[in-house]
Amino acid sequence: MISPFLDIDLIKIRENTKNVTSLCRNKGISTLGVTKGFSAIPQIVRAMIDGGVDGLADARMENIIELRQNGFTEPITLLRIPRLSNISNVVRYTDVSINSEAAVINALSEAAQEQGTHHQVMLMVDVGDLREGVMIDNVLAMAQYILKQESITLIGVGTNMGCYGGILPDSSNLGQLVLVAQAIEKKLGYKLNVISGGGTSTLLKVENDEIPEEINQLRIGEGILLGTDTTNSRKISWLHQDAFCIRAEVIELKSKPSVPIGTIGRDAFGNIPEFKDHGIRKRAILALGKQDVYVEGIIPIDEKIHILGASSDHLIVDVTDSMQDIQIGDEITFRLTYSGLLSASTSKYVTKVFHGGNNS
Ligand SMILES: *Cc1c(COP(=O)(O)O)cnc(C)c1O
Repeated sequence: MISPFLDIDLIKIRENTKNVTSLCRNKGISTLGVTKGFSAIPQIVRAMIDGGVDGLADARMENIIELRQNGFTEPITLLRIPRLSNISNVVRYTDVSINSEAAVINALSEAAQEQGTHHQVMLMVDVGDLREGVMIDNVLAMAQYILKQESITLIGVGTNMGCYGGILPDSSNLGQLVLVAQAIEKKLGYKLNVISGGGTSTLLKVENDEIPEEINQLRIGEGILLGTDTTNSRKISWLHQDAFCIRAEVIELKSKPSVPIGTIGRDAFGNIPEFKDHGIRKRAILALGKQDVYVEGIIPIDEKIHILGASSDHLIVDVTDSMQDIQIGDEITFRLTYSGLLSASTSKYVTKVFHGGNNS
């Protein structure tokens, strides 16, 4: 196997999942394991299922179809509003999709009818983050519209936070979601099965016992995978942060000046670079670049190593202060953020290495 390697600790993912699902279960909340952060790699999905998730969820139909082809029969929720051009696949391969558009919901109903089945819709409510969802004032009318669709079941309402607007879940916005669910139940005489209160950023509310008791589902990716909660900028102390890391190989190691020599034009991506003069520094070039990973999403484990820059195929790091005796051919290891993980798991140039699975 050839580097770069994405190391995946399935035991830690299973333990993280177990800790998240039991915390939630104790409060009457079910957990969907969100698989989009790692392109739904089957071994990781298996670890989430073994850890006790109640269902799977992904934003990409391509991932979901692969999940089905790999034999996963768990309920799957599509976490991105369906494309009109892909409706029949949504009905065929998913159990639930999140929705906010009448035209899409109507098309889902027609496709479900054609396939002789029913499709479940989770109506998304925008409580302030301004990504997807119907604004509060329009929720009742939309719910009414959904209930009229012949082959659609309204499974519940959900909201999303901490994505576009960086809005934190609190008792006000989660409370609005609950109120709007209660309004649907009362005014339309229809019982909702699910009130879905967001993703990892809502976990803090569960931990602090501040989540409205009506909320009975969360959709968790980042917390299970990385043990972090970017929106609340915290490490989740009771979860592992090191289930993933990426390793890349040193292909050049030389002492060089810290400021380039000559007339500065533009770098490989059209930007004009700027440099501070730190004198002569020992630099390593790694066989890792933007085609492998989102470089802003990786952090050297050795805190004395600093990333200087990257192009499509090369990562340049300053290793002057590192205590390790780094040699050509050695590997340097990095932690990943959610974007780092997303990109590395998608790249075909990164070898995935599994630890702690059933056959290792
Ligand atoms: C990605 C996503 C999630 C999971 O979010 P995390 O912060 O990774 O837990 C939940 N819901 C929706 C709609 C998403 O798109």
